[in-house]
Amino acid sequence: MGKIKGLSRRQFLKICGTMAALAGLSDAYIPQIARALEKAAAGKAPVIWLNGAGCTGCTVSLANSDYPTVAEVVLDVISLRYSETLMAASGHVAEEALEHDLEALKGNYIFVLEGAIPTAEDGIYCQVGGKPFVEIVKEAAAGAKYNVAVGACACWGGIPAADPNPTGAKGLQEVIGGTVVNIPGCPPHPDWMVGTIVNVLLFGVPELDELGRPKLYFGQKIHDNCPRRTAYESGLFVEKWAADEPEMLYCLAKVGCKGQATASDCPVRQWNSGVNWCVKAGAPCAGCTDPKFYNDFSPLYEPLPTVILEEEPRAEGFSTGGATLLGVGAAAAGGIGGYLLGTKKEKKEGGRKTERKEGEK
Ligand code: SF4
Ligand code: SF4
Repeated sequence: MGKIKGLSRRQFLKICGTMAALAGLSDAYIPQIARALEKAAAGKAPVIWLNGAGCTGCTVSLANSDYPTVAEVVLDVISLRYSETLMAASGHVAEEALEHDLEALKGNYIFVLEGAIPTAEDGIYCQVGGKPFVEIVKEAAAGAKYNVAVGACACWGGIPAADPNPTGAKGLQEVIGGTVVNIPGCPPHPDWMVGTIVNVLLFGVPELDELGRPKLYFGQKIHDNCPRRTAYESGLFVEKWAADEPEMLYCLAKVGCKGQATASDCPVRQWNSGVNWCVKAGAPCAGCTDPKFYNDFSPLYEPLPTVILEEEPRAEGFSTGGATLLGVGAAAAGGIGGYLLGTKKEKKEGGRKTERKEGEK
């Protein structure tokens, strides 16, 4: 078995194991991953990464990957031919390189888009090298082997497409049609990006949901794995910010959590090396992996009209599923479940703060 960037065979296989986990595969796939990576390293799968209307946070998130050696290997097996944020070249040199690569690598490269595509008035609101970005995107997508959108803006327009959207910002799929692998988020988790790139290199387009997202990362609602689900089921809700500290452990539905309508594995994977995530940190899920983000999910600290509160009739067609063992287990492990079980009686006796007055919406 050959080496990649001076790694020993042992180190290389360890990385292959991590990549298998990222791609949701069992250890049985390690030899296959090793062969594919070596093959890819020999051929260097070319990637063209364009930035449209966005904040570049997706690139920053990718750079925050807590698997530096995996990121290193991924960068070693792909050839990042164009990335305005990461490459040294600029100006005419960079534009000429892009033009050359789009022609020379036609049909063989992975096209990654970060940021939305302004389309109003023939795309004059975003131009690169004097050319409307929307035209550059269409050209890059037409010659690509795979088209990948990273971040909420590239997937569905995100914040740049929020009302009144004067630039006519749109996501990649809406502009080019066809198959687009959507890796949403504001920003996306580095594992979602690295894992999907590994998957595409190994097996082509991964299994996608109806929104073009890899099912591996976006197959379950946040609400179904949330450690505050016990509080939700107990009817205990944070009613206002700066509530008493114990009450801050209650469900965040009434202060804007979009976890019931949002799919991602944030509660299980967590962020920053598995240290924390939005809801655990006390912030409601903003729904950043859903097409309704940002426009239809704002104001971020107000509940959705469709949010279902415990002991109230559930809206038709709005599935919350059951509390999973993982969610309840996580709450109990964090001491939240025990606390809530101890306080539910007291709350009921004392008149629950979550009860709604008649006629209240
Ligand atoms: S509404 Fe939000 S905070 Fe409450 S249980 Fe669901 S995901 Fe967790
Ligand atoms: S918890 Fe919600 S807002 Fe936070 S990163 Fe995950 S999907 Fe986005």
